[in-house]
Amino acid sequence: MAQPPQHTSSTPVDWPIGYPCIAQHAFRDENSDVPAGTRGKIVRTEMGYAQVTMPYLEPPRSGWVPQSYLQIGTTRKYGDIHVEVPPTLVNSPMPEQSNINWSKLSIPQANRIFYDRAQVQIRSGPSNQKRITIVSEAEVPGQPRGSLEVTIPSGVPGLDVGTWVHPVIEMMADGSPHSHSYTRLPIAGPYADWNQANSWALKIEFELDNGSWQHVYLSCRNPYEARTPQLNWPGAFDVYGHGIGIYRYLQQVQLDRNSKQAWMYDYGLARIKEQKFDFLTQTITPEDVLPPNKIVKASSMKTVGQMQAELGQLGLNAFGNPGQMDQPSKGTRRPAGACDSCYLHNLEGRNFLPDGSAQDVYPQSQRTECVKATGGNPNERAVCVRCRQLARPCTWTRAVEDCPLDDPRVRALLPRPYTIQVQSIPDPHFSVHQVAMQ
Ligand SMILES: [Zn+2]
Ligand SMILES: [Zn+2]
Repeated sequence: MAQPPQHTSSTPVDWPIGYPCIAQHAFRDENSDVPAGTRGKIVRTEMGYAQVTMPYLEPPRSGWVPQSYLQIGTTRKYGDIHVEVPPTLVNSPMPEQSNINWSKLSIPQANRIFYDRAQVQIRSGPSNQKRITIVSEAEVPGQPRGSLEVTIPSGVPGLDVGTWVHPVIEMMADGSPHSHSYTRLPIAGPYADWNQANSWALKIEFELDNGSWQHVYLSCRNPYEARTPQLNWPGAFDVYGHGIGIYRYLQQVQLDRNSKQAWMYDYGLARIKEQKFDFLTQTITPEDVLPPNKIVKASSMKTVGQMQAELGQLGLNAFGNPGQMDQPSKGTRRPAGACDSCYLHNLEGRNFLPDGSAQDVYPQSQRTECVKATGGNPNERAVCVRCRQLARPCTWTRAVEDCPLDDPRVRALLPRPYTIQVQSIPDPHFSVHQVAMQ
């Protein structure tokens, strides 16, 4: 297996990745006296540029960096400085838990927390797929070892087997659903911590042969897949298990062993360094993020009443008689009388005519019937097979016949469409003016 890119200097092993620091404020251009070896200290700023010393590996130096580029973790290039990664921290293909360091950067104004880890190498997986491993469970004798294995979309130039890529997890600071969430789960789900499982996105950053950088968000292909055919319960999708498992891991919250079920993942507690910025002293210090010493039980399922209330809050008609629309329907749903979820699942798309009215586009063959589930509790509201898979009540809502398909009422019921968007990371349009920090 090829070795990751090498660097030549000695590196403090406790510092995971050679990022520069964050600056979120403007600073006066006053002080150019920088003690040798200072790490991560902001010494000058001017017109949106900050001069910072950076924990670079080779050579240590300072430079002028626009503040917009100080959103560390969103790019690997800063001026003419190319950030390298210490090879001691590279883990591939199966990372050992204890060797992964994550670098954390909070950007409260953007409601985002970025977590970066060392690069991983793309390898070939089953059925000609390309994969990377983000994190693995600790080895427990007699138990299958779970890991977050992510498929690399085919057809993206620059992502061949053997390529080293930089994974970045982008988490919503308030735990709300991320617009590019890895899980792609519908925004209303049956577990109490459903939102958190949906609150992070995974992207990889990679360099092309010509030296330009790109990133692409990765997401799961089938959100409703069970971990194994035997571990198949409503809402207990494999990707929900990963989603909440990674959330707990990065929040450093321990899952109560007794409440862990076979389909769940337990990645333990992540080792995290955070780049703390002190405005008063204008210093940046990488600090260990200490676990809050908190154990949580696996999350509970919402009751039918809670799901009804949640869907109702979003504007969906989850009450009244099954099959009864809240307002008379203008057109005919296919299949006729389908609940919102089955009706929307059958749509290929929706066009809007100049008068603003919606025109549904159906595929050649119908994708699903709306079949009433049998064997449920006779005292509970009837539910269809599709909605029971998500442990939620059927809804019949006139408004979902007119709204755009990215409306929250639709997204509450359907997974986000699978898309692949490769974006280039622009080269900073500045040069580093000052170097040499001996
Ligand atoms: Zn249905
Ligand atoms: Zn239904």
